[in-house]
Amino acid sequence: MSRNAESTAFRSALEVIRAVEPRVADAIGAELVDQRESLKLIASENYASPATLLAMGNWFSDKYAEGTVGRRFYAGCQNVDTVEALAAEHARELFGAAHAYAQPHSGIDANLVAFWAILADRVEAPALRRAQARHVNDLTEQDWFALRRELGDQRMLGMSLDAGGHLTHGFRPNISGKMFDQRSYGTDPASGLVDYDKVAEAAREFRPLVLVAGYSAYPRKVNFRIMREIADSVGATFMVDMAHFAGLVAGKVFTGDFDPVPHAHIVTTTTHKSLRGPRGGLVLCGPELADQVDRGCPMVLGGPLPHVMAAKAVALAEARRPDFADYAQRIVDNAQALAEGLLRRGATLVTGGTDNHLVLIDVTGYGLTGRQAEQALLDSGIVTNRNAVPQDPNGAWYTSGIRIGTPALTTRGLGVAEMDSTAELIHTVLSQTTAGANPDGTASKAKYVLDPALADKVGHQATELLAGFPLYPGVDLG
Ligand SMILES: *Cc1c(COP(=O)(O)O)cnc(C)c1O
Repeated sequence: MSRNAESTAFRSALEVIRAVEPRVADAIGAELVDQRESLKLIASENYASPATLLAMGNWFSDKYAEGTVGRRFYAGCQNVDTVEALAAEHARELFGAAHAYAQPHSGIDANLVAFWAILADRVEAPALRRAQARHVNDLTEQDWFALRRELGDQRMLGMSLDAGGHLTHGFRPNISGKMFDQRSYGTDPASGLVDYDKVAEAAREFRPLVLVAGYSAYPRKVNFRIMREIADSVGATFMVDMAHFAGLVAGKVFTGDFDPVPHAHIVTTTTHKSLRGPRGGLVLCGPELADQVDRGCPMVLGGPLPHVMAAKAVALAEARRPDFADYAQRIVDNAQALAEGLLRRGATLVTGGTDNHLVLIDVTGYGLTGRQAEQALLDSGIVTNRNAVPQDPNGAWYTSGIRIGTPALTTRGLGVAEMDSTAELIHTVLSQTTAGANPDGTASKAKYVLDPALADKVGHQATELLAGFPLYPGVDLG
């Protein structure tokens, strides 16, 4: 691909936008500058390829395509069918799944599709059979109330939030916490690792309809074979939300017991995190759940986004190329180098290290809250996010952790040597930051003191570190 083509494409696009609303064109340009200049360690972010980005900026956005491939509620969907079928095919081949559904607009939407597919399969269908009805519309009023009660009375067992689980796994701030009666499993307080015996015990006591594995802030592998055995032992449907680590599955870093696809009844993911695609979601499942999953739109989702499905097809095609496996391995090598660099300098890490793409620093060792650490790092040009640690003494808002991840920097080309430099920058900022005080003299969980000259110096070092690894090297906006 000629670099010239990328520059021309983005320059021309901005010129067309500028003619209508120049402030939008300016913001798009400014975002590129910001992304180029910041050391992005947000574990859930990445940089999609120019081809993926460009596949989204076109008239596919103009098309309504409710339904699924070949079965649309709208006429004229032949080209949407082409890209949706391609996205699904690439997803099936990439992950070795029997069925793929490429429509979910985000990871949360993919989870909602999966939850309703499971409820429909496990609750609604048997209720319909009992009522000898073919469709909910055929139910008597009495049947319908019985069904509603059953739907609202199902249980979900998922990973606790402070152990790294996700809000959509049955927690109150998300609708899943209202759809399901939820209980969660944590991690072992000493090792920080998932304790499978405890999960099995919780499953035996709670008898969930759905067992969920997957996380946003757990720095280790999960053994999905064992989790499936636990699900089977209580007759639960086993769902894995691989939103964070889909790239490591795609790149065959997580194989065997650690590849969720052969073990789970249903797998959901985002496409924009380690998978490096457009912002969106994906559901994978076996033939048993395929029909229910395909009802995602209009059961749960609004009309599909054909332009994003086009971009998913492009990104998934990229992930099937051999160099994606190298990329996935480098993500983990980098995370481990970053962890080692931090440990060597005296940082405390949850579980003592990592075997995936993320590292969770317990910043109480630096005398800080997660919020103070996050802001001090941001002042120094290092973008991270605060995150709870297991049994967090500072709660979910201030937190005691900083979550850092390597997918984005690895896309830029940074390697293990640069990870050591990154660890040095992070450690310098955290060890030089002190907790601030409230006006009444009590300790603040938000205020902090960091010499602006030091923040500046680290910021420059971060920019220098990045200078050798240009972001979107083929894009020169002039
Ligand atoms: C990021 C994430 C999601 C949500 O993805 P969105 O695209 O933001 O809706 C769901 N589950 C897990 C485990 C995640 O990490």
